[in-house]
Amino acid sequence: MLTDLQVAIFGGDARQLEVIRKLAEQGANLVLVGFDQLDHGFTGASKMDIGEVVFSKLDVIILPVNGTGPNGEIDTIFSNKRIILTAEHLKRTPKHCHVYSGITNAYLDKIVSQSGKGHTQLFDRDDVAIYNSIPTVEGTLMMVIQNTDTTIHNSNTVVLGFGRVGMSVARAFDALGANVKVGARKPEHLARISEMGFIPFHLDHLQKEVTNTDVCINTIPFQIVTSGVISKMPTQTLIIDLASKPGGTDFKYAEKRGIKALLAPGLPGIVAPKTAGQILGNVLSQLIGEQMSTRKGKVE
Ligand code: NAP
Repeated sequence: MLTDLQVAIFGGDARQLEVIRKLAEQGANLVLVGFDQLDHGFTGASKMDIGEVVFSKLDVIILPVNGTGPNGEIDTIFSNKRIILTAEHLKRTPKHCHVYSGITNAYLDKIVSQSGKGHTQLFDRDDVAIYNSIPTVEGTLMMVIQNTDTTIHNSNTVVLGFGRVGMSVARAFDALGANVKVGARKPEHLARISEMGFIPFHLDHLQKEVTNTDVCINTIPFQIVTSGVISKMPTQTLIIDLASKPGGTDFKYAEKRGIKALLAPGLPGIVAPKTAGQILGNVLSQLIGEQMSTRKGKVE
C-alpha cells in the first residue's frame, strides 16, 4: 500500500487514468495537474493548477510518457491550460522526491540534474518496453491495414532493428503470413533473426535489400531510411516509422518520391490506452513501493 504518500501526476493521455486508478487503489494521496476537463473523480485525488501544488510535500512526481516538451511543456489531453515544469519547481521538493517518466529529453535531464532529484525512465526497463511492444505491434498492424490495399499475408515486409519492438513486430507479421526480412547490425541479432525463421540481413546492405519491399517498418531511432534507401524502394512501398521522434526516415524525400511514409508515435496510447496504462500503473506502484520501503529502511 502507498498510504501517506504524496504523489503529483502531471497531464498525459488516457494511459494516465490507469496510473491514477492504480495508485488511488493503493491509497496514495494524489495531486492531479492538467486534468481540469476530466469529469471523473478519483478517491484521494485532488485536481490543481501547477501554481497551487505544494512541491515541498511531494514524495513522487509522475510525468506523461514523453516527459516534457523541449521547453518544459507538459502535454495533456485533459486541459487546455499551458503547464510548464521548471527546475525551480523540482528544487522545492524534498530531497527524496523521485521523478518518473516514460522517456526523457535534454530539457528534462537538465532540470532533474539541477534539482538533484532521482529520475526513472520507465521505458528503459526491459519488462516495460517488452509489455509495451504488444500494443505497439497491434497499432502497427492497424496502420498497415489502413494504408494498404493488399493483405499482410504474402507481403514482403522489412523490419529495421531487432530490439524489444522490432522482435515483436517481426513475429506478428510472420504469424500473419508475411515474408519477413529483418535488418540488424549485431551478429547475435542476425543469428537470432535466422533462428526465429525470418530472413536476416546486415544494415550495411539495406539499399540492396529493399528493392521488392511492400512494407518497411523502422524501429531504429537514427536516420536509417535515407534518401538513398528510399530511392531503391518500389513506389508502392509503405513506410511505418515507429522510432521515437523525429523517427529514422527522410520523410521529405519519401514525399518527393511519392512513397507513403508515416511517423507513428505513441501507438499504445492510441490503440490500447487501458492496457498500456495498466502496464505503467503496475510497474509504478511496484517501484514507488520499493522506494518507500527503502526510505523507511524496511522491506515489506
Ligand atoms: P531497443 O530495444 O533499444 O531497440 C532499438 C534497435 O535499434 C536495436 O535493434 C538497435 O540495435 C537498433 N539501433 C539503435 N541505434 C542504431 C544505429 N545507430 N544503427 C543501427 N541500429 C541501431 O528499442 P525498442 O524498445 O525496440 O524501441 C525502438 C524505438 O521505438 C524507440 O525509439 C522507442 O522509443 C520507439 N517506440 C515507439 C512506439 C510507438 O508507438 N511508435 C512504441 C514503443 C517504442 P543495436 O542493439 O545494434 O544497438
